[in-house]
Amino acid sequence: MKIDDIKKIAIIGSGTMGNGIAQVFAQTGFEVNLIDIKQEFLEKAVTNISKSLDRLIKKELLTEADKKTIIARIHTSTDLGKAKEVQLVIEAVNEDFGIKQDIFQKLEEICPEEVFFASNTSSLPITKLASTTKRPSQFIGMHFMNPVPMMKLVELIRGFATSNETYMLIKELSEKIGKVPVEVNDYPGFIANRILIPMINEAIYAYMEGVGTKEAIDEVMKLGCGHPMGPFVLADFIGLDVCLAIMEVMHEGLGDSKYRPCPLLKKMVQAGYLGRKTGRGFYDYSS
Ligand code: NAD
Repeated sequence: MKIDDIKKIAIIGSGTMGNGIAQVFAQTGFEVNLIDIKQEFLEKAVTNISKSLDRLIKKELLTEADKKTIIARIHTSTDLGKAKEVQLVIEAVNEDFGIKQDIFQKLEEICPEEVFFASNTSSLPITKLASTTKRPSQFIGMHFMNPVPMMKLVELIRGFATSNETYMLIKELSEKIGKVPVEVNDYPGFIANRILIPMINEAIYAYMEGVGTKEAIDEVMKLGCGHPMGPFVLADFIGLDVCLAIMEVMHEGLGDSKYRPCPLLKKMVQAGYLGRKTGRGFYDYSS
């Protein structure tokens, strides 16, 4: 398959990442089938995309007419069968191996054999996910950063069996949608999260041990280390459940106690304080 043969893609999961990925592809001119389990999640996703496009209109980077065209390219559905019509499927569901495996096994039956599969997983092994399908050579990790419309990076993760043809095609596609792809090998956490999430986890330990308030720790990392946002603001933005899942994958996959998740992070997730998406994490977003 050549880059120009890719006209329509499916995105499975319309949450934080799925709706951002859908927006970027639709803005580049691709038709997008955006799939989730509930209609209300899809409606929320389209509302988020609409708000994100409004911000671009405000900055005079888009017109109202462009927005209409972009939204019209996004076709929402609760039917996974809609993935049959596309050349590439990008999975962006919860960071749970079982859920992802189940989806890829269903996609294997639904999608013609030439279709490429990508996972936006933050940390799960691409090689293991790929081996749940009959097309591991056409399987790749496509790790976008949050918020997808603003962040330039996409980590492209080669599984053991990912073919060079697949890698080159997805690299070209990433560039076409305005991203900067970086090649990464398949180890837990890849590059960005291997370094970022233990930093967030350590900040939570420091807070739990009383080294400083969360506001103080955020301020120190912003003003002292030049980070654009402090670790607690960032954790709330990423989602605390996502942070915990990544720590657990690295703890298990690398077998080193330095990756143990902070008990306070676990407790926050148990309480349902997942960050911005639930209105409460380390900070309160309810008002
Ligand atoms: P999210 O919880 O915001 O969204 C997940 C979506 O998947 C939900 O809308 C859910 O209903 C849907 N879903 C669950 N099961 C499904 C199924 N069987 N079929 C269709 N849809 C289903 O999660 P997110 O933050 O968007 O994360 C998605 C993936 O992206 C995860 O693998 C995560 O690790 C990765 N990721 C997250 C970030 C981040 O900052 N949040 C950054 C990079 C990568």
